[in-house]
Amino acid sequence: MKYISLFWASEKMAEVIKDWDNFKIVAPPLAGALLVKGLRRGRPVSAGEVLARRQGESFGDIHAPVAGVIAEISSTEIVIRRDSAAVGDPPRPVDLSGLSRAGLSRVLKELGVDLPEFLPGAPVIISTFNSEPGLTFALALLNEHRETLGAGLVAVLALNPGARVIWAVDRPGQAPAGVEEYILKYRNYPKTLPALVKKEIMGNYDPAGRGVLGLRDLQTLGRVFRTGLPLTHLVLTLGGANYFVPVGARAIDLLTFANLLPGPGDAVVAGGLIRGRTLARLEQGLGKNIEGLHLVRAPAGSGPPAPCRRCGNCARACPVGLPLFLFVHREPVAWPGLINQARSEWSGCLGCGACALACPVGRPLLALSRLLKA
Ligand code: SF4
Ligand code: SF4
Repeated sequence: MKYISLFWASEKMAEVIKDWDNFKIVAPPLAGALLVKGLRRGRPVSAGEVLARRQGESFGDIHAPVAGVIAEISSTEIVIRRDSAAVGDPPRPVDLSGLSRAGLSRVLKELGVDLPEFLPGAPVIISTFNSEPGLTFALALLNEHRETLGAGLVAVLALNPGARVIWAVDRPGQAPAGVEEYILKYRNYPKTLPALVKKEIMGNYDPAGRGVLGLRDLQTLGRVFRTGLPLTHLVLTLGGANYFVPVGARAIDLLTFANLLPGPGDAVVAGGLIRGRTLARLEQGLGKNIEGLHLVRAPAGSGPPAPCRRCGNCARACPVGLPLFLFVHREPVAWPGLINQARSEWSGCLGCGACALACPVGRPLLALSRLLKA
């Protein structure tokens, strides 16, 4: 089976980006969140001040990443205009030592952490790989943030006492002392997706990849656990380099900073290059779950896809054996009629795009798998 090489970049983590004028905190954070009392247009906020409480057990609350003035509030967004004159008291660190498991979960959530999903009795796997092409922060975090990753590990064990922790690595000696290590046999995309890392180690397939934490999740957890301060900045791969950026920073500001402004027909993709989504609005702020931002230039001279060659590459490349043969020989116009027959099988589709990447004639197979999963 052929897999696609992942970009293994070793960029150092860059400085925090901190000198723009406007930041946005965006949906989905505000969907179902309760604004704190008295939050209104024109009110000054200090960096780290809580703005909204999110409902549900696992979603972290929302904090102002920078000091400024509330410029706008809608049902989906809070816009903060950066204003150095608005600097208030810095947030006080919370003491997280000695808390019960439930107390720690509650306080981490209040400090903005989206809590990882642990399965009772199941091991926790820490994947040290970039999950998909376009994301390049794993090595930088592993090399430069070991202490914070260690604090993340302590937090994982405090949240999930007694759990077996397995550190998935590409060579021996990368796990912290005393932590079980597993050397992943297959390290090229899509085998680096959490679901497939888990499948290789545990043998069972769970498309959501529950119980697998990436280094970015672990570093975030460790930083908040260690400092007791609200989550205001996160790691982001921006055009191949890595930065700590304020949560909710607008795509347009980030692209301008990186000199990556799109031209006609170009797309801006938030997330990984394969499973990410194209942004419709560049004024949109980036939520906590966005790991990368990329400019994808318009392909030259693209036309309708060439006919299928019946080579079978797509079906062979699918890591979970989905029956792509149902569709590939037919023109896309016939796909909608076939979709209902196949939809139930597609719940296990990872959206990994391995089928599309393996196709020699560029059939739109990733679009098909997204349609089937919808
Ligand atoms: S996108 Fe879905 S159908 Fe295509 S290779 Fe990945 S899992 Fe298989
Ligand atoms: S890889 Fe492309 S050309 Fe080959 S069978 Fe699949 S859709 Fe057809």
